[in-house]
Amino acid sequence: MPSSLGYRDQQGHLDVLMRTRLTGGILLLGHFAAAAVVAYGYYLGALVLVLATHCFFLWGTLRPNSSLFGSVAKTFLTKQQEVWLTIDDGVCPKTTPALLDSLKKHGVRASFFVVGRKTDAHPELMERIASEGHQIANHTQTHPHASFWAAFPWTLKREIGEGTEAFRSPVGMSNWFVHSYLKKRGLRPIGWSVRGLDGIATPRAEVTANIDKGLRPGAIVLIHDGYDVERRGYAPVDILEDLMQLLEKRGYQCTIPPKSALLPREA
Ligand SMILES: [Zn+2]
Repeated sequence: MPSSLGYRDQQGHLDVLMRTRLTGGILLLGHFAAAAVVAYGYYLGALVLVLATHCFFLWGTLRPNSSLFGSVAKTFLTKQQEVWLTIDDGVCPKTTPALLDSLKKHGVRASFFVVGRKTDAHPELMERIASEGHQIANHTQTHPHASFWAAFPWTLKREIGEGTEAFRSPVGMSNWFVHSYLKKRGLRPIGWSVRGLDGIATPRAEVTANIDKGLRPGAIVLIHDGYDVERRGYAPVDILEDLMQLLEKRGYQCTIPPKSALLPREA
């Protein structure tokens, strides 16, 4: 909801439209300045200006959780000792059932940021996730992690679609168009405060150690589902069990916060 000034969001941060105008202005200014420099015959200077402008845009796009083009939810407001457990990249018939068993055993609700292509193939897992009280959230249709940074509006229609309750970009990269697309649907990207880097080959003990460093009330915790267990040497349920032990040791509960409690800053 914009304020009366119309350019700040609920938490007083610049909204997507304002950031679009600002960053668009910087892009135009960089190119006008380069054209002016060319007029004086300084070709190398013009090249440096154009490259610097493009690098600025690339930095804002490729940096996970970047807020250059719009705010990203990285924490949530709470007075309790609680965190939001989010699980990316499912579903998978080899790993998701064990995760669900473990969540049930610990009485924990989580949000599953699922990949549409995988859920289409396993509707029975989606039914189970929903019936056991977890949140189903959108993590694109095909998880195009190598190209999503350059996604155009027509790609987003296919990858995000409509009717999404919560959305997280692959590798947390949200460009100009992603922010605009989500804003029109009353959403903003969900990022994270802490992750164990279990989406890549991180040794098991380091995964929870990484998460431990960033645990705070209101933290958004990110772990992964659906990877190759044999190659990784551990399963998503192993990481979940380690995490449950850690949270218990530190006195944390898990919750799924309402959209109104999400905050665009680090814990
Ligand atoms: Zn992912």
